[in-house]
Amino acid sequence: MALRLALVALFSAGLATACVALARLGDAPVRTSAGAQAADDRGHRTAAAATLRAAERLVGLDPRRLGVRVVLARPRPGLAARYDPERRTVSIFAARGTAPHRVAHDLAHELAHVIDVEHLSPADRRAYLARRGARGVAWWPGRDASDYAAGSGDFAEVFALCHAASPVFRSRLAPRPADPCALLGAVASRIAGRASKGEA
Ligand SMILES: [Zn+2]
Repeated sequence: MALRLALVALFSAGLATACVALARLGDAPVRTSAGAQAADDRGHRTAAAATLRAAERLVGLDPRRLGVRVVLARPRPGLAARYDPERRTVSIFAARGTAPHRVAHDLAHELAHVIDVEHLSPADRRAYLARRGARGVAWWPGRDASDYAAGSGDFAEVFALCHAASPVFRSRLAPRPADPCALLGAVASRIAGRASKGEA
């Protein structure tokens, strides 16, 4: 009875749900489903790698000149990219179908964190917040919190506008600036200049 119901369900279902229905009936179709999943994963990885290469071309900086590696990671809900200072690695969690300019923005955002963590002083950060009209705002977000309302996240968003210009701007600290490069400050501009693809 159960088999019969499942078959009815299978024939009335679309192609997309066929794998799921078959997987409940026996061993062989489960392997087919897993194989299709693996092929799908490989397909996504190939597409994501191409998107990352296209994104890297949209960023004016060479991450290697900042001493960091960029790697593609399995997509994770709610996470676009992350910088790991200990491994000196920027991970890109490109969700399926993400446009290259969004990945470029996320990559440039993380490169801002690299420069921030390694080169900016507390005085540089205070001066940046003053230029953004946000004196006294916390620079670092709470643990596991988004940084879009903190100084470091706003700095990273403005840095991304300067070095990977796109419509994307997610800071909640202050409005999208007309001249992002002018806000970054002397230290960040100098370090970014040295990492620029245009520099010999
Ligand atoms: Zn960030």
